[in-house]
Amino acid sequence: MHNFLPIAYFQNQFVSFESANISIATHALHYGTGAFGGLRGIPDPETDQQILLFRLDRHCQRLSSSAKFLNYNLPADKIEQIIIEFVQKNQPQTSFYIRPFVYTSDLGIAPRLHNIQKDFFVYGLELGDYLSPDGINCRISSWHRQEDRSLPLRGKISGAYITSSLAKTEAVESGFDEAILLNSQGKVCEASGMNIFVVRNGQLITPGFDQDILEGITRDSVLTIAKDLGIEIIERPVDKTELLIADEVFLSGTAAKITPVKRIENYHLPEQKPITEKLREKLTAITENRDSNYQHWVYKVKI
Ligand code: PMP
Repeated sequence: MHNFLPIAYFQNQFVSFESANISIATHALHYGTGAFGGLRGIPDPETDQQILLFRLDRHCQRLSSSAKFLNYNLPADKIEQIIIEFVQKNQPQTSFYIRPFVYTSDLGIAPRLHNIQKDFFVYGLELGDYLSPDGINCRISSWHRQEDRSLPLRGKISGAYITSSLAKTEAVESGFDEAILLNSQGKVCEASGMNIFVVRNGQLITPGFDQDILEGITRDSVLTIAKDLGIEIIERPVDKTELLIADEVFLSGTAAKITPVKRIENYHLPEQKPITEKLREKLTAITENRDSNYQHWVYKVKI
């Protein structure tokens, strides 16, 4: 069970988390017609007067885009204002995760996005490590990531997460920690809730935006950091066999941060992971506001 933050934003006001409840007839619950965001915050290690939110603007922009796919106009700056107030009201004391959610909130049936009421809520929970930072074992999933022509994959649409859920459970129930999904072309796509990176011969390789991936904000951060560190980055389709003989593989995501992969199916990856470690160290320093070059990625909420 999670430790939820005490205050939620629900139906245009701040209320206790316990009282923020929806009906069993809520449209989005039946049709997956919601979209969510997920961002992390930490109390500033330097002062107890401040909370640090990583790339708040990008997360709000992505949620605003996701809302567009639901036929709902929710400007990014409105989301941002609500999240800032949400953090001020909760004053979290430990590392936490914010889950903003837009959805079709009418009661009743018939899948559609027109002529239907939408709503927006925000809640949060304490969140430490989502996956083991020491490394994980992955299975190549028998489930493939959906295609952009049948689902707007640039949005974090809740209904799309049936595939992630199937893949994750298949992986865990067969003794692995996480699933790696291929896309409909049979190329490496991403994990159940993380993007994927491969290191070979000193180059950092990751599937590009034409590979049905989610436009991960951690992915974007990793690519920027790697470039700044002088690591060669390549965005291109990745074959499954490249993963199996890679020098390093890691997953990136808001919850997972940078998680090294130790084994894929029955292929053990090398124990030394110098590039993964270098990127992880840098990303941690940035999120803790210890790197002056990336201050603009860290939104500071005064409490
Ligand atoms: N892919 C999927 C399917 C995800 O759910 C997530 C988590 N949001 C990611 C990738 C990683 O995205 P981000 O770095 O923005 O958290």
